[in-house]
Amino acid sequence: MIAINSERLKRSLEEMGEIGLNDPGAGRTRLTLSQEDREGRNLFVRWLEEAGLQVCLDPVGNIWGIRQGRDMKAKPVMAGSHLDTVKNAGMFDGALGVLAALEVIRTLNDHGIRTEKPLAVAAFTNEEGARFQPDMMGSMFAAGLLDLERALGSMDDDHVTVGMALEETGYSGNDRLEASAYLELHVEQGPVLHREGMDIGIVQGIQGIAWWYGTYKGEANHAGTTPLEYRKDSLLAAAELCCELRKLAEELGNDTRSTVGRLHPLPDVVNVIPAETWFTIDFRQYDKKLFESGKEKVESLVAKIAEKHGLDFQLEQRVDALPIRFPLSMVHLVERVARKSGCSYMNLPSGAGHDAQFMHRLCPTAMIFVPSIGGRSHCPEESTDWKDVDRGADVLLKSMLELAGLVYEGTGV
Ligand SMILES: [Zn+2]
Repeated sequence: MIAINSERLKRSLEEMGEIGLNDPGAGRTRLTLSQEDREGRNLFVRWLEEAGLQVCLDPVGNIWGIRQGRDMKAKPVMAGSHLDTVKNAGMFDGALGVLAALEVIRTLNDHGIRTEKPLAVAAFTNEEGARFQPDMMGSMFAAGLLDLERALGSMDDDHVTVGMALEETGYSGNDRLEASAYLELHVEQGPVLHREGMDIGIVQGIQGIAWWYGTYKGEANHAGTTPLEYRKDSLLAAAELCCELRKLAEELGNDTRSTVGRLHPLPDVVNVIPAETWFTIDFRQYDKKLFESGKEKVESLVAKIAEKHGLDFQLEQRVDALPIRFPLSMVHLVERVARKSGCSYMNLPSGAGHDAQFMHRLCPTAMIFVPSIGGRSHCPEESTDWKDVDRGADVLLKSMLELAGLVYEGTGV
C-alpha cells in the first residue's frame, strides 16, 4: 500500500511553523501579504518547484502548483488551504491542508505514480481576514464571487491595500485558477472529534458567516459635569449591543452564534464620555433561511439601539458567506476512503469558514477534518496528534487518487 511520508510532512509543517514565530509560547503570526507571509510563500513556491510542479499565480496572489496528468486537457483535482494566520496562531490551521496536499504530490513522485487528470496544490490568499476583509478572499475571487477591484482595494488598519501589499511582496500574476474537484484537509478547530475519539471528520457543510464593521456616533463630554440624561454615550450603546446580540443568538437558537470581537471607544480617556465607538459583529448560522432572517435582525438591532441612545450610526457589511452543503457524492467518496483505510469517522458541520466554502461554488468540493486537541484553535495552544495528521493526509491522498484516476501504478501500490 502506498503511504505518505509522515516524517517529511511533520518536518514541512514544523519548518513552515517557524516562520513568523513570536516570543516563546506566543505562536506565529503570518498576516496576509506581510513580510512573514511572503517568507512562507517563498518557501512554499520553492517546495512546489522542487516537486516538479508548474507554479501559477493569479491577480489576488493565490498560488498553485500543477502536476500534469495523462489527460492534458482535464482540469486538475485540487487540494489546498491557506498559509496566512491570525495573530499568535498554531502550526496547523491552513498550513496542514496546503502541506498535506504537497506531501501527496511528493509521495506520488516517490512512487512514480501517474494520474489521468492533473493534480494541483493551492494556497489561497487571505483566508483568515485578520488583516484584510473579506476573509476567504482568494477562494472567493477564484470562484468569481469577488470583483478584482474590490479585492485589491481592501484596506488594512494602516491604510495599506491588498493591491499595494501584492506589489510589495511580488505575488501578483495573471493565471486563472481552475479545478475539476477540490479537497481541503483542515484541523477541526472545535472539540467534537477529540471528545468523541474519532480519527476523521467528514464535513457536511459550512455555516453562513456575516461580518459587519460599525460605528456609534454620540458626543464627547465631561464625565463629571454631564448629567446622565444629557449624555450621548456611544460606548454605552455598544455595550448594550454586545448583550442584545447575545440574546438574539439565544432567541434564534439552532446553534446561532454572534460575537462582538472588536470594540474601540474614542477618545478613550478616563473622564470623557466616548464620542465614537467602533465595533465589529460576527454572525453565524447553518440554516439558510435563519441566516437570512438573522442578518436582518442584527441590522435592525444596531439601528434600534442607536435610536434609543440618540446616536448616529454607520454599519457596513464586509462579509456575507452563505451557508453551504457539500455534494453528497463527494461526502460519500471521502467516507468510502476513510472506511477502507480503517479510520473511525463521523459527519459534522463546520463552524469555521474555509476556502472550501467558496471553492464549492466552482467545482465539487469536500473537506476532511482531523481532531484538534481540546478543541483549541486560533491560539498558540492549537495542536493535533501527529498520528491524526498522518491519517488525514492519507485519506486526502486516496481521495485525490480516486478523483484523478490512476494511470500508472508505479511501485509500491
Ligand atoms: Zn484555516
